[in-house]
Amino acid sequence: MDAETLIDGIPASPHSGTAVEPVAWLDGKVVPWSELLIHASVLGTAQASACFEGVRAYVNDSREAVNVFRLQDHVRRLLQSMTILRLHTAFAAADLELAVVELLAATPWHEDIYLRLLAFEGYDVVGAWPTDARATILINAVPRPSTMGTGRTKSCCVSSWRRISDESMPPRVKASANYLNSRNAYLQAAADGYDDAIMLNQTGHVAECTGACVFVVRDGALITPPVTESILESITRATLIQLVKEELGVDPVQRPIDRTELYIADEIFVSGTGGGEVTPVTSVDRYQVGSGEIGPMTEKIQSLYRDAVRGLAPRRSEWLSRVKRGEE
Ligand code: PMP
Repeated sequence: MDAETLIDGIPASPHSGTAVEPVAWLDGKVVPWSELLIHASVLGTAQASACFEGVRAYVNDSREAVNVFRLQDHVRRLLQSMTILRLHTAFAAADLELAVVELLAATPWHEDIYLRLLAFEGYDVVGAWPTDARATILINAVPRPSTMGTGRTKSCCVSSWRRISDESMPPRVKASANYLNSRNAYLQAAADGYDDAIMLNQTGHVAECTGACVFVVRDGALITPPVTESILESITRATLIQLVKEELGVDPVQRPIDRTELYIADEIFVSGTGGGEVTPVTSVDRYQVGSGEIGPMTEKIQSLYRDAVRGLAPRRSEWLSRVKRGEE
């Protein structure tokens, strides 16, 4: 990549060097990447008054459509995050769902796509917080292949950074600012030679991974922290709980998890839309988890999730919003 394709060291387009220019949706219209201009003074960047959603659209077997997974639930959570943060918008849930479909229809990719819906507070140079300003909403789409089925696993540490709490920076909200906490933990883990970090909450119980929820298998029981343990109210977590109950007849236990339970767990996996999906954790603080490979329960759950998102589980079709692809 030559210098001309970089802006401040960042690729000018996620597809620099290819013939395909991506598009985005900004406050009501699909716009070409090169015209996606936002004033540098936005308060959202200076003071992190922003929240977002990460959504995946999975290409189907014949590659003539992508299925957006649980679009309505992601839009609902974005609006809930905005409510908690007092970010205002005139867009209704149905408008934003349609925006995602419109944007995807304008993209040419016959592959898995990741979308980010971002709401941020608009222009300001003095740092005051307007009480009635409308948030800007931006939706980006980029190709991002699923990693399920690639054999990907993670080694984790327990982070010395504690997860933020509902008393100050609610983790229930998918606020951009919350990711500074995740980033601290992730970069520390990377510097120490781990793939990722599991964070404890303020009471010392397992909260979540830097961008995913945590599930533990012990003596045949599937255990995950309740949503009041300083975690995001994750859509993948809710999906897995439902799938496991309905397809495997296993009732997941939602209870606080101690750190040392991680060291003697039979299986651990992390789950989330973007980087996580269903990813086995094969060690924690260098304690090997189970056999050190993907465990049998994790494997079953991963394949249930994969079938649901790929449109291979007819019972789960209500979770999918289909968007047809153009000519290849
Ligand atoms: N926790 C955190 C901190 C996350 O960033 C994510 C990813 N959005 C998750 C959990 C999983 O949430 P979801 O399943 O809704 O993607």
